[in-house]
Amino acid sequence: MATKKIYDYLVIGAGSGGIASARRAASYGAKVAIVESGRYGGTCVNVGCVPKKIMWTTASFADALKEVKGYGFDITEGRPFNWLTVKQKRDAYIERLNGIYEKNLDKDGIEKINGIAKFINPKTVEVAGKQYEGKHVLIATGSYAWIPKDIPGAQETGMISDGFFQLEYLPKKVALVGGGYIAVELAGIFNALGADTTLFIRHDEFLRAFDPVISQTVMKTYEDAGVKIVKSSRLKKIENTGSNVKKSLNIQVEIKGQMTAADAFTGFEEIVYAVGRNAHTEALNLDVTKIKTDDHGYIQVDDWQNTAEEGVYAIGDVCGKAMLTPVAIAAGRRLSDRLFGNKPNSKLDYRNIPSVIFSHPPAGSVGLSENEAKEKFGEKALKIYISKFTNMHFALTEHKEPTVYKLICAGPDEKVVGLHIVGKASDEILQGFAVALNMGATKADFDRTVAIHPTASEEIVTMR
Ligand code: FAD
Ligand code: NDP
Repeated sequence: MATKKIYDYLVIGAGSGGIASARRAASYGAKVAIVESGRYGGTCVNVGCVPKKIMWTTASFADALKEVKGYGFDITEGRPFNWLTVKQKRDAYIERLNGIYEKNLDKDGIEKINGIAKFINPKTVEVAGKQYEGKHVLIATGSYAWIPKDIPGAQETGMISDGFFQLEYLPKKVALVGGGYIAVELAGIFNALGADTTLFIRHDEFLRAFDPVISQTVMKTYEDAGVKIVKSSRLKKIENTGSNVKKSLNIQVEIKGQMTAADAFTGFEEIVYAVGRNAHTEALNLDVTKIKTDDHGYIQVDDWQNTAEEGVYAIGDVCGKAMLTPVAIAAGRRLSDRLFGNKPNSKLDYRNIPSVIFSHPPAGSVGLSENEAKEKFGEKALKIYISKFTNMHFALTEHKEPTVYKLICAGPDEKVVGLHIVGKASDEILQGFAVALNMGATKADFDRTVAIHPTASEEIVTMR
């Protein structure tokens, strides 16, 4: 039997969290190895945030082209939009990022091990027939999307978001299933780029995990922009009446408990399912460890990212909590600070994590929703400020998008406990306000801050 290699820190998964944690550990002089079965950078870089943001930006240019007429530009239609050009340039950009990630690991002296890691005992994994042991082991294997198994025809004809990034053409007619971040973001992109877009959701609203000001405003804007939202619906059967090269998909749906005709929704070229993600643990052989998973398969960790197996930790999507890149990165870095950087109190505070939905317009949220704040503080203790207006960006445009800001304050000192914003540039506005919330800012602190004029965000410090 070949000798086993032993490291101070063995990281499984070279995605957002794994790479960040490995590099931080190496910066303290730890001997580190990282195992990766796919492309370096993980979900975010390859099939997540990065290509999504490029597509969102592409769609935003499509919006802008419609708007500039109002500002005196005579844009005569030239060559039509070319999806394949964007895809090819996007792929090349991501390949460059993959290279940068690999080089950074090399620069930091981190050994890269390519292949699927499988535990053979609690501190040792096997990869491609070789064994590697870590004095400390980190599981950062992320999550994967799925297509519902109970819809006949769905597996054969549908795709998840990974497939969206492989698409080489803009479908003329597309359906999306799901009511979370991904379904809403991808529906917005397709629609802005001119696809006939239908979104099937299980309830009457999408983005239900957010404050209603976000779900309602974004939904209304989508409907006004032409996205067909089929509420309280469940897909029952998909039939392809085209070929595998050029699909023509008919969808049978149950709406509010009533079955539609077998071909109620016809002629879709693609269907994208975005109905949540599962923990990527199936290859790990966790049974040889004491690691526990919850009912949804996510790895259970304490506040310090410790699993039930001593010396084995988990971070990021595989834990199923706040499945966002900066969360995986921050948890990974804090963990390495604690294990190798002599910072015994280092851990991630999961409160007040800001996030943005790259919808059209974008929306963002930090802190508690109105319902969460009511539950925590009681309705009487809350004061809620709302501001609705049209951003000056749209002063001369025909098409106008709404901007809505909602501030939730609690207690006699009106501590700001939630901020929910929808409207142009919300993606860039929210970060600074998240700092204020984390510092415990009150409404009086917001009021004391002099506005920047003329901007949309000045409304957040002038609400009455
Ligand atoms: P990952 O980045 O998924 O990395 C896990 C890595 O582990 C993968 O590379 C995988 O190949 C590898 N792996 C798995 N099992 C094994 C094994 N047994 N052996 C070896 N390697 C293994 N978040 C944001 O903050 N902002 C966004 O705008 C955003 N947009 C998104 C858009 C989409 C379409 C998707 C799908 C996600 C998006 N996210 C976004 C979420 C974000 O991508 C994830 O939260 C983040 O990538 C999680 O990082 P991670 O390190 O936990 O896992
Ligand atoms: P989400 O958890 O955001 O949403 C999935 C939604 O799909 C659920 O909320 C549910 O909505 C609906 N759903 C669940 N099961 C079914 C089903 N069987 N049929 C129909 N609908 C169903 O997951 P996503 O897949 O959109 O994204 C995964 C994660 O990735 C997110 O949670 C987020 O953390 C991260 N992400 C972050 C982004 C960002 O920061 N901008 C962008 C993209 C992803 P309902 O209960 O209302 O029916």
